[in-house]
Amino acid sequence: MALTSEQVKQKARELGADAVGIASAAVLNAYPPDPKFPQTPERISPEIKSVIAIVKRIPAGAFRTKRAECVQYMDQLVLREMDKVCMRVAQFLEGEGTYAFPLASQETKWEFKRASYGYLSGRHVAIEAGLGTMGLEVNFLSPEFGPRCYTSAVLTTAELDADQKLTRQVCIGEACSRCLYSCPADAVLHWGIDKRACAQFAQEFGYSVMLSQLQKFVQASTPEAQLAVLCTPQAYAVWQGLLRVVGAFGDCPRCLEVCPVGDDYVKWLSDEHRSIPEKNAEKVTLAKQMQADRQAGKDLPGLSTWNIRWVGEEGYVPPKKRQEAENSEELRVKNEE
Ligand code: SF4
Ligand code: SF4
Repeated sequence: MALTSEQVKQKARELGADAVGIASAAVLNAYPPDPKFPQTPERISPEIKSVIAIVKRIPAGAFRTKRAECVQYMDQLVLREMDKVCMRVAQFLEGEGTYAFPLASQETKWEFKRASYGYLSGRHVAIEAGLGTMGLEVNFLSPEFGPRCYTSAVLTTAELDADQKLTRQVCIGEACSRCLYSCPADAVLHWGIDKRACAQFAQEFGYSVMLSQLQKFVQASTPEAQLAVLCTPQAYAVWQGLLRVVGAFGDCPRCLEVCPVGDDYVKWLSDEHRSIPEKNAEKVTLAKQMQADRQAGKDLPGLSTWNIRWVGEEGYVPPKKRQEAENSEELRVKNEE
């Protein structure tokens, strides 16, 4: 008997997924995030029928520390754990007689775009699988964990029933703008991100810093000067990044720790991160402008007819109002029965 979606999801949860959903490969093929550089399952293998989205949450405690290294280290542990979960899900599916393999989630395809652009976007797969929507700063936001989570996927030839994509906006949006207020790089755009600006903080000792260290070493005129380049905190940080990836990726916690979406924020973070020291008059004016532009229906690339799909077509509805609407719908159905 063929596996059901529910059996696969149940197994993935048993194997360590914090949230799991299923997206149809046909839908992912039809809606690549950027059609000019299509990240689609068919480019990996035309045999793929379903993509299982896996979410792992980042334990919230690290976001209460005063040391970014704690979040950086935790990030790497979560990513490694998530890869293991995907591997075990793939092994389970193969045991059940279908092909399956985990997404090479941190790989970049340079013939597409430079920097963090793989064959598939884990964020978009998770959204198509109904697990959340995009935030103002284009992080993936889950209703349970906000942006404090990572996404990956397992690709399979099994034909599984897909989950329904959310049409509501999980992110509160312009009226919140806390990610924008907290960002040290002013990288948060209107449903977009300035990747280069963000990388200065989020990849403090990433590839470009490693290259600049190498350049200094090669250009140093004497062996003593070369040694001096190697004996710097920057060179040591690059080595640490190579060893543990700490400092090379997911370095800046600010937009993650201040986002009020997610049960974990209310439970663990709201007292610590209520006030945002980086908030200033200029940022408030920018957020108000964004809100006005949205209300005026201005043309915004992040909310284009193509991109709105991943933000949430219905827009943001506060939880209380949503609950009221759901209750009245339930009542209407009951009355009709
Ligand atoms: S990771 Fe840091 S630098 Fe990048 S958008 Fe978030 S707050 Fe800004
Ligand atoms: S901080 Fe606010 S605006 Fe930014 S992603 Fe979270 S909910 Fe959206």
